[in-house]
Amino acid sequence: MDRSWVKNDQTTAAAREWLRGRGVTMEEISELVMYLQGNYFPDLTMEECLESVEKVLDKREVQNAIFTGIQLDQLAEEGKLQSPLREMIESDEGLYGCDEILALSIVNVYGSIGLTNYGYIDKMKPGVLERLNRKGGPQIHTFLDDIVGAIAAAASSRIAHSRHS
Ligand code: MG
Repeated sequence: MDRSWVKNDQTTAAAREWLRGRGVTMEEISELVMYLQGNYFPDLTMEECLESVEKVLDKREVQNAIFTGIQLDQLAEEGKLQSPLREMIESDEGLYGCDEILALSIVNVYGSIGLTNYGYIDKMKPGVLERLNRKGGPQIHTFLDDIVGAIAAAASSRIAHSRHS
């Protein structure tokens, strides 16, 4: 297949659609950005946070992490993964770690401030991250929680960089 058939505007729309399909809105990710940056920049608006999230979602490496992670979560939900990967993703096993590594490919897009933000938000689990981390429901969010945190962290470092320049 000719790879040039997959156009950037299509993948951008698909990335948003996949996130929405898993119950995550742009507004919720923007709220995480505000959580991370609001104290540093008191005049920061939700519009600016949303714009930054959208810029992050325009990046192909970010989109690729979204597709890969969400697909694995869904295959796990459907019981289509093979053991022992199936059990590790189903139970969000602490030693698995590939979910965090995949999300780092998002954080890395905007440099090292993103890494600090990513670690912090993963520890605090505010807003939508608290919901995604709740265990026991039919849905599996082993990859998605890290991906959403990483998008917020990358959008935050974008704001930090642009405000300081
Ligand atoms: Mg995870």
